[in-house]
Amino acid sequence: MTTTELINLLKRVEFGGVTGLPRRISFEVNGKFMPNPRFGIDATGDGIAGAELCLGVAGEMWDYEEDTSKNLAEEYDDCDQFICSKCGIELHGWTRVERDEDTGEETHHEYVLRFCPNCGLKIKNAR
Ligand SMILES: [Zn+2]
Repeated sequence: MTTTELINLLKRVEFGGVTGLPRRISFEVNGKFMPNPRFGIDATGDGIAGAELCLGVAGEMWDYEEDTSKNLAEEYDDCDQFICSKCGIELHGWTRVERDEDTGEETHHEYVLRFCPNCGLKIKNAR
């Protein structure tokens, strides 16, 4: 595949159909799943196939059949950001709401998800 063919392929699926947001990239390789990989250009040059581009891909591989998920978010605490290692959904800004039985007053509290609200898998290392 040429870089032009890859760019055109990616442009066709660049944005989510429902949300219109830019899609995050994930890989499925031999039954294992790598969400949100990091890319780099390892090398460019003229090789056996002509002009070549060697991409470096780094990330954590997960067994696609594994029955648990993991929060891949690194930017914020687990109570503020969640990126599911299984389905890739990214969530921000949820709170646990408690209501005073007498006054009806609402208070909002930090909450760490125990299960992915999208795919339903139990989240590893959830407190
Ligand atoms: Zn999920």
